[in-house]
Amino acid sequence: MVHETGYYDLLGVDPKASPEELKKAYRKLALKYHPDKNPNEGEKFKLISQAYEVLSNPEKRDLYDQGGEQAIKEGGMGGGSSPMDIFNMFFGGGGRMQRERKGKNVVHQLSVTLEEMYNGSTRKLGLQKNVICEKCDGYGGKKGALEKCSNCKGKGVQIRVQQIGPGMIQQTQSICAECQGQGEKFNSKDRCKNCNGHKVERKKKILEVNIDKGMKDGQRITFNGEGDQEPGLEPGDVIIVLDQKDHPVFQRQDDNLLMKMNIKLVEALCGFKKTIQTLDGRMLIITSQPGEVIEHGDIKCVQNEGMPMYRNPYEKGQLTVHFQVEFPEKHWLPEHLMFQLERLLPPREDVMITDDMEEVDLCEVDVQAQQRGYSRQAYEEDEEGPRGGVQCQTQ
Ligand SMILES: [Zn+2]
Ligand SMILES: [Zn+2]
Repeated sequence: MVHETGYYDLLGVDPKASPEELKKAYRKLALKYHPDKNPNEGEKFKLISQAYEVLSNPEKRDLYDQGGEQAIKEGGMGGGSSPMDIFNMFFGGGGRMQRERKGKNVVHQLSVTLEEMYNGSTRKLGLQKNVICEKCDGYGGKKGALEKCSNCKGKGVQIRVQQIGPGMIQQTQSICAECQGQGEKFNSKDRCKNCNGHKVERKKKILEVNIDKGMKDGQRITFNGEGDQEPGLEPGDVIIVLDQKDHPVFQRQDDNLLMKMNIKLVEALCGFKKTIQTLDGRMLIITSQPGEVIEHGDIKCVQNEGMPMYRNPYEKGQLTVHFQVEFPEKHWLPEHLMFQLERLLPPREDVMITDDMEEVDLCEVDVQAQQRGYSRQAYEEDEEGPRGGVQCQTQ
């Protein structure tokens, strides 16, 4: 019984979500709300990270399901890692040690179709990045023309003294705005005109992303050293995360493809031939022989017509077809012909009717109203008042 669903709501998943569904939800939201992409949504980024940190750990998730956020706080299990640590851990951004020598990694999401993952594809991705200024080689101005900053006298910090009350003063220390804490700067005539002394310039870079056959939703493709350049630092990586778009026909489950197929009652009973268009545009024909009855909900498969296996694309998973039998509409057959149909179908079992039995009406069930009633019951347990239970309509 789940009492509190706030963390699940934040990630937009059902409280029964699998670890994979949680991962996928976190991946999408974390990339969307990452401060690099959405600087005004820092709070949201933090909340998503908190929720994921708890729900991705089975022990913490159990505790949350039983006692909500309160239990997590009391158990001392909340807020261990910073949102950025959780993000870096998830996307493979490297530990703290690595970050000191290296610039930070940039993560981009790339939306790809199932066809692209089946056939393989090359996508060009244009991105803006900082590169070392060509004109000054990342020096920022004329060589040897660096002067001690007069604003901070070379200390790199500014100290401000403020009177905050009678006889009370407060000292605040901040990074010098004139030299950005460097303690040195160029005067305006020696400063590099190209980068304005910033040592780097913004440039557009095109990355070619190879989507190999069989790659999966959430798979990462890393471009080493393609992150922002900064003097004295090894540039970080650009990490592309694949995000598979939904397909109108096929659902993917690892290397298998799943599809639904509607067949008519006559096809279910008397056999059929049907076509399926594959993700590389071929037409498959599937056959059910006359006499081979297919029931509603039957599942059959075609070997080797699923997704290609990553790095072994000649091997494929299976294609699973989930049959749904369409019954004819009410009163499709005139009553006087009914006996002909009955004669052909397997015989029915007769029921002995006796006097002590009770005749009752069989009515339609409004399934939707029933479900609405159930969910209202689950969320408003303490509320008084009439509830929508099973809706029975007599005709
Ligand atoms: Zn300064
Ligand atoms: Zn420059």
